[in-house]
Amino acid sequence: MFSLLPWRQARSIFDLTGETLAGQGIALLLADLDNTLIPYAQSQPTQALLDWRDDLARHGVTLFLLSNNRKPQRPERFAQALGIDCLTHAGKPKTGGFFRAMERCGAAAGETAMVGDQVFTDVLGANRAGVRSILIRPIRLAGNPGRYLRYWAELPLRWLSRGRRWKG
Ligand SMILES: [Mg+2]
Repeated sequence: MFSLLPWRQARSIFDLTGETLAGQGIALLLADLDNTLIPYAQSQPTQALLDWRDDLARHGVTLFLLSNNRKPQRPERFAQALGIDCLTHAGKPKTGGFFRAMERCGAAAGETAMVGDQVFTDVLGANRAGVRSILIRPIRLAGNPGRYLRYWAELPLRWLSRGRRWKG
């Protein structure tokens, strides 16, 4: 379905606990990398991120990295350090990457969610693939005018879906 509105909005990934995700019937959480899990300049997971992954795993939620990054090295290293599977060059908002990820994890669309910081890739792609979309605020916009422009373009959509807050 073509929709630019996220299923839910949250401040950051840390609002999404294993318990609340599992409570929504989510067994697979696809996650964007840049400005969702870490800022652009960073390449290693923080301790908070490792703890978050553990919390998800304890509740039976698999974390999977779905990145549009065309250079696979950084996302692959990051995923390895976090101990999760990943798919790079995913081509979001095309749906192919979503379906490949779900197939690899043996998960149906109905038990899958995607968390990301961008409407026109993460949210649109997830909605098209029939996966629940969770939009967060970008970790850091600083340093790139293009990122500000994109964020401003997204603001009306964030505003339109302001009632769809993640309840954690
Ligand atoms: Mg991103």
